[in-house]
Amino acid sequence: MKRILKCPKCDSYTMEEECSECKVKTLAIIPAKYSPDDRMGKYRRMGKKEEKKD
Ligand SMILES: [Zn+2]
Repeated sequence: MKRILKCPKCDSYTMEEECSECKVKTLAIIPAKYSPDDRMGKYRRMGKKEEKKD
């Protein structure tokens, strides 16, 4: 499985560890599960769990 990387300089997506355009190290894209949106989802799930427990 190949990771998708992103160049911090030109914001282009690549699978290379170095941007062929800018010659800078590309950064791994942060997985969606670490996004703030999902954190909200986690809270929602926790709420559900508490409801069941009560
Ligand atoms: Zn670049």
